[in-house]
Amino acid sequence: MSPTPGPSFRVTALDTYDIRFPTSRELDGSDAMNPDPDYSAAYVVLRTDATDPAGAPDATTGLEGHGFTFTIGRGNDVQVAAIDALRSHAVGRSVDELCDDPGSLFRDLIGDSQLRWLGPEKGVMHMAIGAVVNAVWDLAAKRARKPLWQLLAEAEPEWLVRQVDFRYITDALTPEEALELLRRGKEGADERRARLLERGYPAYTTSPGWLGYGDEKLTRLAAQAVADGFRQIKLKVGADLADDVRRCRVARSVVGPDIRMAVDANQRWNVDEAIRWVKALAEFEPYWIEEPTSPDDVLGHATIRKAVGPVKVATGEHVQNRIVFKQLLQAGSLDVLQIDAARVGGVNENLAILLLAAKFGVPVCPHAGGVGLCELVQHLSMFDYVALTGTTEDRVIEYVDHLHDHFLDPVVIREGHYTAPTAPGFSATMRPESIAQYTFPGGTFWAADLDRKDGQAA
Ligand SMILES: [Mg+2]
Repeated sequence: MSPTPGPSFRVTALDTYDIRFPTSRELDGSDAMNPDPDYSAAYVVLRTDATDPAGAPDATTGLEGHGFTFTIGRGNDVQVAAIDALRSHAVGRSVDELCDDPGSLFRDLIGDSQLRWLGPEKGVMHMAIGAVVNAVWDLAAKRARKPLWQLLAEAEPEWLVRQVDFRYITDALTPEEALELLRRGKEGADERRARLLERGYPAYTTSPGWLGYGDEKLTRLAAQAVADGFRQIKLKVGADLADDVRRCRVARSVVGPDIRMAVDANQRWNVDEAIRWVKALAEFEPYWIEEPTSPDDVLGHATIRKAVGPVKVATGEHVQNRIVFKQLLQAGSLDVLQIDAARVGGVNENLAILLLAAKFGVPVCPHAGGVGLCELVQHLSMFDYVALTGTTEDRVIEYVDHLHDHFLDPVVIREGHYTAPTAPGFSATMRPESIAQYTFPGGTFWAADLDRKDGQAA
């Protein structure tokens, strides 16, 4: 049995990788705003000189924390450079101190007085902070030999409250209110933990509905989704109304009246356009309209919501921080709040957002898909169920069925549910061979691809 890392163990390196998958070639992930994404990860590894308590005795690497943020191709190098800019804050820090209080690094990173100019708390720099902070939580969960959802669910409410930065949100949620929510969340947690391990957490699938797929593929994948046990699917919309009407009709006729069908415009519309378009699709009873307009337009979402009910309004995957989420909740702009594990400042800020949603009684249905977003965000929803809101009613985690095989601890979907991970950590570790193959532009896949193109050009 390896001893618990002592106070002398340090973070010895912060290594970054620009990893890109050629998904645009199959139109996987295509929507009205993003027609040809190459799903990518700006990936970070915090290396330490501590022994991994769950690692093999002869392991050549020590305890590591892995994290990443998701991009869709060009610009992934910019995202990697932003993570590199945070290196001096992480390297040399005590592993014990970091793991005992991940919030200490979160506060240092968002408080860097020069880097803060690039935000504050938004955009590329903030996503970089999220990647590093999530890597620390991966490290902490591995050190504790628990999956992250369990580490969070078993944590003391007082400690969790200290992990949250309440700056700019106390007008909506005070630390005392957060503490009360978390204390109440503990009641019955053991029973819910057992239920979670048995049944998992409800999922919905976006796989049938990519905009680039033809009707035949939509029909086949929608039927498959229902056969696989999903109770909700999602269709991309917003490029052409006649196409959307046709695709919604096709999908509704395949899944029948009882399966929820959400639609997602990926920010395509102006406010009045969104209202017109959603009303034109209303006969197919969409469950929610996702990202109808700019993620920054708090009041625009409120206007849309008033006009399109009973269709619900959902947003969040591009909402930049807890402050905008606070405003969306205060203004009554959304029915469904969609956290993203890798958009905001990591677990610490997502705790703030989960607490805000709980305070306002708005269900959280996370955004996932991309590269590894399902792997990460399942932990946050499972914590929310076991030890915060205590319910999965009207809550589902997005699921998209590609790129999971690049992860060491990929998500497992059973009968339309995410199975609770049991391996220690945040499920963030990518396979070394995938990193070697898809690192851009020097990995084996991209180097061969470039050679082939050079050959064709010659
Ligand atoms: Mg979306």
